[in-house]
Amino acid sequence: MRKIELKAQAMAAAAPLFACPVCHEELTVKGTSLVCPQDHVFDLNKKGCVNFLNAPVNTEYDEEMLAARRRVLTAGFFTPFLKRMASQLAPADRLLDIGCGEGTPTDYLGANVATSVGFDISAPAIKLAGALNGPALFCVADLARLPFLENSFTAIADIFSPGAYAEFERVLRPGGKILKIIPASGYLRELRQALYAGTDKATYSNASVKDHFYARYPDAVSEPISYDFACTPELFADIVRMTPLSWQADPEKRAALLANPLPSIHVDVELLSTEWNQASRS
Ligand SMILES: [Zn+2]
Repeated sequence: MRKIELKAQAMAAAAPLFACPVCHEELTVKGTSLVCPQDHVFDLNKKGCVNFLNAPVNTEYDEEMLAARRRVLTAGFFTPFLKRMASQLAPADRLLDIGCGEGTPTDYLGANVATSVGFDISAPAIKLAGALNGPALFCVADLARLPFLENSFTAIADIFSPGAYAEFERVLRPGGKILKIIPASGYLRELRQALYAGTDKATYSNASVKDHFYARYPDAVSEPISYDFACTPELFADIVRMTPLSWQADPEKRAALLANPLPSIHVDVELLSTEWNQASRS
C-alpha cells in the first residue's frame, strides 16, 4: 500500500480526531482527503501529511538547518531526555507533539503509542517529517488554532515550543499529561560562551517560563536532566547550524567556532510534567 493510503487509513482509524480549522467541525477521511460537513477539504500529500494553513508561513528554519537537525537528532542528541519522556508517557494512547519540527522526536515518543501526531508551522519541517517511516501522522498547523477536536489526546509533548495552554487543555482529555521540555541555564553552554561572552546573552534563565507553567499547574513536577553529548566535528557543525542561538550571533564568532569544533556539547534541560484535570482549568 502506498504511504498516502496507509496514512489515510491510520487517520480514519484514529477518528474522531481532526477538526476543520475553518468551521471547527469534525473532519472525516474520504479517499485521501479530510472533509468537513461544510465541504472544506484538506488533501493528504504523497507522504500522507496534511497542510491546515491557508497560506505558507515563513519561519527561520530553512532546509539546510532542518537537515542538520535531522542528523543531530538521529545521532541521539535528544535521546536521554526523550527516554525520560517516553517512560512517563505510558500508558498514553494518543500523543500530540507540539512544534514537532522534522519529526524525529515524534517518531521516538510515538513508538509505544497507538496514535501519535506531530504538527509544526513550518512546511519544510513537515516535508522532512513525512519522509520518516514510522506510524506518526504529521501536519502543518498553527499552535494557536490546533486542528483537533476537544478531548482528542491523552498526552502532549512540548519540546522547546511555546506553551499555548488553553489550546492544550481543549484538545487533552481530563487526566491527560503535559510533558514539557525547557532549556536550563547550562543548555549549549559552550556555544553560549563562545558566541556571547561579555553580552547579556552569555547566561540564560528559564525562570519566567517555569513560573508561568507552575502558575497554571501548581502540582507540576520538574525533573532536571543534563548530560554531555560527544560529537564528531561534522555533528558539532550541525549543532551550531541547527540552533537559533547561533543564527543571530556575530558572523566572525560563529565562523571561529565552526573552525574549532568542540568534542562535546552540554545538554541541560528540565522536564516539567503535569496531569491536567478540568478542575484545574483557570
Ligand atoms: Zn469546515
